[in-house]
Amino acid sequence: MTNILVTGGAGYIGSHACKTLAEAGYTPVTYDNLCTGWQEAVQFGPFELGDLTDRDRLDQIFAAYQPAAVMHFAALSQVGESMREPGLYWHNNVAGSLNLMQAAVAAGCLNLVFSSTCATYGDHDNVVLNEASAQQPINAYGSSKRAIEDMLRDFEIAFGLRHVIFRYFNVAGADPDAEVGEFHQPETHIVPLVLDAACGKRDALTIFGTDYDTSDGTCIRDYVHVCDLVEAHVLGLKWLEDDKRSRVFNLGTGKGFSVREVIDAAAMVTGTEVPVLEGARRAGDCTRLVSGSTRAEEELGWTPTRSTLEQMIGDAWRWHQTGHYDK
Ligand code: UDP
Repeated sequence: MTNILVTGGAGYIGSHACKTLAEAGYTPVTYDNLCTGWQEAVQFGPFELGDLTDRDRLDQIFAAYQPAAVMHFAALSQVGESMREPGLYWHNNVAGSLNLMQAAVAAGCLNLVFSSTCATYGDHDNVVLNEASAQQPINAYGSSKRAIEDMLRDFEIAFGLRHVIFRYFNVAGADPDAEVGEFHQPETHIVPLVLDAACGKRDALTIFGTDYDTSDGTCIRDYVHVCDLVEAHVLGLKWLEDDKRSRVFNLGTGKGFSVREVIDAAAMVTGTEVPVLEGARRAGDCTRLVSGSTRAEEELGWTPTRSTLEQMIGDAWRWHQTGHYDK
């Protein structure tokens, strides 16, 4: 079996990727420091505790498993936190990724699939975001991911490190079998928060800003189901296996939904009213982030099949009710 080193395999997206990789016949080797991940989420291959900034440990893991490729998910990913603590993002995300790339090159592992983000685009109001759109991030999270993209391009030129970069829009939903799902401590993402509010685990969901220049005044995001997203990663891996050139792909559906529309969908799925408070804007939030690209569909053959709001929130709700790691 082919080993794939999955950094952040104990996290939300990484754990879903491990399940999909295992189903596709690969052995996902999780490398995670458990700072935001859960050991209970590592169910589909070996687990190795370690930090991206620990080069000796990385060298040991590359030697032990001889992975054919790296899927690099491990990162801090909260926009608000990145505005308050940018140093954390430059250290963990950028310096950590540099270390990982150097270890991969030293081990002769020259294929890497990277989790990037639409936050690298920044605010482009009413502009369709495709892979050629200017990258002008407005938060440190986006800046850190853009820097890693730049590093990948330099490492390819110097060392032949081929890569697929996926720029995610907003990832939501959960494994339909509820074996893994989204669970952060503390939680900051809208779908788990709105479900917490729907079932009374939280008093209310606070809407961050109702004065944006959008139809209902709240931010617009393009939501993609985590299972669709990780399917694209397996296609990205095959793209590299087929010796195709390094490539950047947006992963979104091209449809934008406002915060209020997400709340309404959650109310419908759960059959309850969601208590809501209207709050101030959150620093670093873009008004609208919607993908305007079909490159992943056309070139990778990616077909999102679960990415309706109802399906994403329905799967997240099932997980929310049955599957938390702390139950
Ligand atoms: N949001 C909100 N209240 C919350 C959490 C998020 O109104 O308690 C909004 C946030 O301002 C953004 C959208 O929901 O417009 C998605 O935020 P999330 O943190 O889930 O993802 P991000 O867009 O930061 O990657």
